[in-house]
Amino acid sequence: MNYENQKPFVARGSNIERCEACLLPQRGCICDYRVSVEARARFWLLTHRYETLKPTNTGRLITDTIEGSDLFRWSRTEPDTRFLQALDDPAIDPYIVFPEGEDYQHRMVEFEHKPGRQPVFIILDGTWRQARRMFRHGRYLDRLPVIQPSTTRTSRYMLRKAQHDHHLCTAEVAVAMLEQIGDQASADVLEAYFDIFNQHYRASRLSRPIESDTGAKNLLRVTQGNKASVSA
Ligand SMILES: [Zn+2]
Repeated sequence: MNYENQKPFVARGSNIERCEACLLPQRGCICDYRVSVEARARFWLLTHRYETLKPTNTGRLITDTIEGSDLFRWSRTEPDTRFLQALDDPAIDPYIVFPEGEDYQHRMVEFEHKPGRQPVFIILDGTWRQARRMFRHGRYLDRLPVIQPSTTRTSRYMLRKAQHDHHLCTAEVAVAMLEQIGDQASADVLEAYFDIFNQHYRASRLSRPIESDTGAKNLLRVTQGNKASVSA
């Protein structure tokens, strides 16, 4: 992803040195665990401008992990032309991921695999309030079907307080969607990377030691090893 020409995000009360790639404090850098997988779906994040550069944004974990995923800047009045062009690709099967609602019931669909087309899940990446505004006011999104993550998981995201337990953070929504379409292996990789992010972030905030032998880390090491042996 290209973060050039953008001002770095200045976190409250901190002059901690951060890794430029993962934005975590240097000590907690998670870049060593990064691995990308070819999943059965791609994710496009329409990201609110206040959200992009926040170190606690988990959308980045998706674009780091799931191949072909991308980030677009959301605007109510001036849609990203790159996004509109990408939507026109006949080889994709796009959905907006959003909870069910009465006034757009006719747009709600279940996932259905369509031969020759790759599912693309569009996630409105912002706070819950921002996402709702984006959904309501992005007229160019009106023609897209809406899919709801059918999950019983509750959020394990520790860095931001959600208003409700069922408000998953962006990375968790993507994990739920991968599970929903039966791609458990990719869901596991993304979830492991999210776990490590959570663990490192917290440890660096609380100045605690960072555990190196966790289930999530072992899974990603194995995934990296398998990938390396395939490409060798
Ligand atoms: Zn890093």
